[in-house]
Amino acid sequence: MAILSVARMGHPILRRKAKPVDPMEIRTKEFQSLVDDMVETMRDLDGVGLAAPQVYRSIRLAVVELTDDNPRYPENGGAGELSGLQVFINPKITKLTRKKARNWEGCLSVPGLRGLVARPDKVRVKYLDREGKSRTRVVEGFLAIVLQHEFDHLDGVLYVDRLVDSKFLVFEEEFEKHVINEVDSEAAS
Ligand code: ZN
Repeated sequence: MAILSVARMGHPILRRKAKPVDPMEIRTKEFQSLVDDMVETMRDLDGVGLAAPQVYRSIRLAVVELTDDNPRYPENGGAGELSGLQVFINPKITKLTRKKARNWEGCLSVPGLRGLVARPDKVRVKYLDREGKSRTRVVEGFLAIVLQHEFDHLDGVLYVDRLVDSKFLVFEEEFEKHVINEVDSEAAS
């Protein structure tokens, strides 16, 4: 396994529409070790998700892992039943609600920043898993937000394109100092 280097905003690969994975390739050693390397890279950087274009591979593949104690997203509480490693190949997403939830998103390709984005928080996703098996799931809450963020990467879209307002793009350090507290005191009042 290896830790891969992550493309940062400004690199053109992040703006390209990624190509579908050939299902025949999924079970190859090369593909499986790419998945393993992406998982290792995501964990090393405390990410909750990583899409292949972020590691300079323009294919429709993303890995996601919610844990109960991710230091980058303490405000989202525990992952509960959503926890566990998941691999999505050639995902197709359908929004199941018009109601949008606002979340402070971050991105390993946009280091040091957070931005407020509104997205529907219930979706259906159809995809191939890492064995090449076709699956369909309905997903809600934070995981639904993470999936939309990761799958946006496959279309060359970054969360900064979807900000509620450009005022809501902040440095992580300021976010921790001011915004989390604000959210807490709003919840308390
Ligand atoms: Zn991202």
